[in-house]
Amino acid sequence: MFDCALQRLEFEKSRRGSSNSKKKGKNSRGGNPDFPADSYEQWEKNSSSQPKEGHSVINSINLLPYGGQIMHRNTQIRILNSCSVDNQIQILYTVYNLYPTVAQFLKQLHEADNLTAGVILRIFASLDHKKYAQAKEIALLQLLRLKPVIDAELNGWNLFDSEDRVLMSISDLAKIRQHYECTNPICNISGETVIAFSASMVLHSPLELEEMFNNSQTNKCCEGCNKGQSSKWISWLRSGAPILLRFALVDTRDRGATEDMIPIFYNLLGERYLVKAYTVHIRDHFTTVFKHDSKMYIYDGLTHNSLKRYYTLPSGHRISTVWLMKE
Ligand SMILES: [Zn+2]
Repeated sequence: MFDCALQRLEFEKSRRGSSNSKKKGKNSRGGNPDFPADSYEQWEKNSSSQPKEGHSVINSINLLPYGGQIMHRNTQIRILNSCSVDNQIQILYTVYNLYPTVAQFLKQLHEADNLTAGVILRIFASLDHKKYAQAKEIALLQLLRLKPVIDAELNGWNLFDSEDRVLMSISDLAKIRQHYECTNPICNISGETVIAFSASMVLHSPLELEEMFNNSQTNKCCEGCNKGQSSKWISWLRSGAPILLRFALVDTRDRGATEDMIPIFYNLLGERYLVKAYTVHIRDHFTTVFKHDSKMYIYDGLTHNSLKRYYTLPSGHRISTVWLMKE
């Protein structure tokens, strides 16, 4: 027997791995900020002393430090476990600096009154001036629209498990069309809708993405009438394919994606997308692998003064989000 409810579950967004982890105490890497408590805007000294000679463009891009403090209602608040937010902001900022098409795309959105793009560009302006605390203030209070919640035990604002929140807050940067058709003539659910790309993009494997884009999905039980057979497929907006796409990967205790599963590029509905970055979750800490000019780099907010040369990721790592750029 076919179980409609069960099948529908497959369509629903799954909670991701970091969500399954328990909140860690001060001894975990993520909970240990390694950060001076009075370091409000003191990062500049460190980062400006870094040697830059011989580095490519990617090495001259400012890097968000882990943790820190933000101002909220004239009070300084320590932020803890900020890596789930830092990495996503850093990826956007890095591709914005590296690729003119991305910069142009965000600026055009901003000019078209896209509020998200406007807030992101303000975060970037702060990062340009190494105003890292200010960048985090804007990100947390205006982009993620969070209200500070002080964790009494850790004595600060704990951002553990905030990655989903960041991703939802920037979801209107990439939109696609989703088409739905039902064989039941009296079902009125058929049609097309413009959706945020991220709204339906939580995958179990990086290989599912091409399948999802390039093949229509049929379902024996229509999500609307529960009688007809439905088909669902994706197309680009009439204005074209988004410059940036990103998807999240399910990470549970027994399965999740590792780095070797990430392809170099994807062919999606006739467009080629290159993998430019992916976030890595290991021992309750997020880092990012960047790919640029045939080289790979690692960003880690705990050692934010420079990008690290790529090294083979240790076993136990899980890929959390993958960022693609249209070629
Ligand atoms: Zn139907």
